[in-house]
Amino acid sequence: MALLLPTSTAGSLPKPSWLAEPEKLWSPWKLEGDALIEAKQDALRLTLQEQSHAGIDIVSDGEQTRQHFVTTFIEHLDGVDFENRETVKIRDRYEASVPSVVGAVSRQKPVFVEDAKFLRQQTDQPIKWALPGPMTMVDTLYDGHYKSREKLAWEFATILNQEARELEAAGVDIIQFDEPAFNVFFDEVNDWGIATLERAIEGLKCETAVHICYGYGIKANTDWKKTLGSEWRQYEEVFPKLQQSAIDIVSLECINSRVPMDLIELIRGKKVMVGAIDVATNTIETPEQVAGVLRKALKFVEADKLYPSTNCGMTPLSRQVARGKLRALSAGTAIIRQELTT
Ligand SMILES: [Zn+2]
Repeated sequence: MALLLPTSTAGSLPKPSWLAEPEKLWSPWKLEGDALIEAKQDALRLTLQEQSHAGIDIVSDGEQTRQHFVTTFIEHLDGVDFENRETVKIRDRYEASVPSVVGAVSRQKPVFVEDAKFLRQQTDQPIKWALPGPMTMVDTLYDGHYKSREKLAWEFATILNQEARELEAAGVDIIQFDEPAFNVFFDEVNDWGIATLERAIEGLKCETAVHICYGYGIKANTDWKKTLGSEWRQYEEVFPKLQQSAIDIVSLECINSRVPMDLIELIRGKKVMVGAIDVATNTIETPEQVAGVLRKALKFVEADKLYPSTNCGMTPLSRQVARGKLRALSAGTAIIRQELTT
């Protein structure tokens, strides 16, 4: 990408209130059938326009067509029963009622490919598409069939690879896998988490990213963060192996987190999406705050490998706050571009 410091978001953006109840995870749709399909496309156009107007360089669908970043993908697979739900502890942190794996998992047809084609038709800007990572999928389910997190992850990796290849063919420039579970299950990440992720990107020619964050700004996550102490060193556990992996870009939570910025040194050589917008607060960052985070990150990432971004998805925020934050991201990035070119 020729442009210095291309901006993007981690993934989800708020939905319009006519599509789904705002500021809520797993918010139910307000329409159904053909009206819902049309409304999702309208929302996708709108989120694209808002990103463009805010000066975002790498745009996305803002996840307007999905209820949730993990379950919507899983819903389209065979072998998973959404009626027969079980309560599990997600990310070892909060209980949720989740679907059950009851048989061999498979993908009968593409999940997001039509949406990606639609997005591609609407813009000439580079587009990024998010998929859940294999480990995070496993961690958002009850498995009564394989009875092995690793086995199920390999199955999901194969399915994700099928989807990713078709997204690439639809013109997606960057495919991102969301792996917040990488911040929790370090042994598994090193044993099979990164290996299954590499299986998911096998044969892809487009760029690939992994997003590792401390989660949406919901209470279970902010409470968890309070227990993590004065320095968050979770990234240290997985970065050495990630640095050796075939993934091109690593997307991280940086602003207002207690992650020591120098940990980024451990993935030297990778492109880094630096989270410079906090998604757990309604306070809109000043451009100078954003610039401050990017300036610090530049000590550990080459300028041509730094991608300013948000800490995580913005679904739980109001549209107005999200809009302000996107503008702050662009304005803060502009300050650093100026500094780098003068
Ligand atoms: Zn995230």
